[in-house]
Amino acid sequence: MSIRIDKDKCVGCMKCLEVCPGSLIEEKDHKAHMRYPKDCWGCVSCVKECKFSAIDFYLGADIGGNGSTMNVSIEGEILHWNVKKSDGTMITIDVNSKDSNKY
Ligand code: SF4
Ligand code: SF4
Repeated sequence: MSIRIDKDKCVGCMKCLEVCPGSLIEEKDHKAHMRYPKDCWGCVSCVKECKFSAIDFYLGADIGGNGSTMNVSIEGEILHWNVKKSDGTMITIDVNSKDSNKY
């Protein structure tokens, strides 16, 4: 499984359902629910779309993640990529969404 949905943070906007190319997420009790965790290939579309940091993406061993997770929060045009390392410490990478297609 590449993602985990935090039900406490999920506000039920259902944006993640709209963007998942595999239709792997469904609505359950007004919250997002991962239907087929094993089928997720980690495209990160849902993670980028969730404005409430409710979807954690697991950073796999293949990229040295070692139990780290990453989610996204948004302030205006700035995307904060919040990485929680396996020791609990945090790193945040800020990207201006208006610049994201420049590179
Ligand atoms: S995008 Fe985030 S807040 Fe909205 S339904 Fe999905 S997990 Fe919940
Ligand atoms: S990471 Fe991609 S494939 Fe996996 S649930 Fe999110 S949108 Fe769907």
